[in-house]
Amino acid sequence: MAIFYDTHAHLDYPDFQPDFADVLARARGAGITRMISIGTNFESSRRAVALAEKHEEIFAVVGWHPSDVLDAPDDLRPTLRELATHPKVVAIGETGLDYYRMPSAKGGTAEDDANYKRKQAAIFQQQLEVAAELKLNCVIHQRGETLDDTLALLQPFVGKTRGVFHCFSSDLAALARIRALGSLVSFTGIVTFKNGQNVRDAVAATPLGEFMLETDCPFLAPIPYRGKRCEPAFVKEIGDTIAQVKNCSLEALSRATCDTAHAFFPKLR
Ligand SMILES: [Zn+2]
Repeated sequence: MAIFYDTHAHLDYPDFQPDFADVLARARGAGITRMISIGTNFESSRRAVALAEKHEEIFAVVGWHPSDVLDAPDDLRPTLRELATHPKVVAIGETGLDYYRMPSAKGGTAEDDANYKRKQAAIFQQQLEVAAELKLNCVIHQRGETLDDTLALLQPFVGKTRGVFHCFSSDLAALARIRALGSLVSFTGIVTFKNGQNVRDAVAATPLGEFMLETDCPFLAPIPYRGKRCEPAFVKEIGDTIAQVKNCSLEALSRATCDTAHAFFPKLR
């Protein structure tokens, strides 16, 4: 059986509490031998680390999600450094920029919006700094009209840290700009959706060895599970579709995506 990794899962979410052991067993049964649990704030990062301590096949990424920044401390670097030195913490994140639900959409002012953007940029910058310091890479969340701002913040760190732009579902021009900075992308179950042709085009345009697989579970379950809770075992369906698009064997896809993950996350064992 071809082996795959789920490089972006939110295993600390309450969705998985009732049947966590079964979720892991199904992942194992589907050949998913490594899972990376991604933190979205310090509490969730600590839970990800705790899962990594308990389960050999789980690793953690620690950081603060852009949508949560209003709850973030002004300087998250000291705590982030502490969390990130754990032997099973393989990257910083998820971090980045997301202007999807601005404060003004919930009754805030234009000034609230400006503050929100400023804080997202500051928190992203701090995470890039810690990543560069600790020689780790970053898991980047970038949604909507934020690519210019995201790349502008990442640019000064080229050569010091790289990003994986997770859940990539943008166009080929965006893909080219990301790759030009030495960064990578990863693909979720959207690649299996009927309306996911742009993602299949991105897969076709990305050479083997320059992308990884992920579920972003509990979100984005691939076909035939669309709309249900997603879980790491479903990387198998994502891999099947991507192997078809790349016209390669599952073994070749397995080798390429796992090697890419080990190169991008050097602490992954
Ligand atoms: Zn995520």
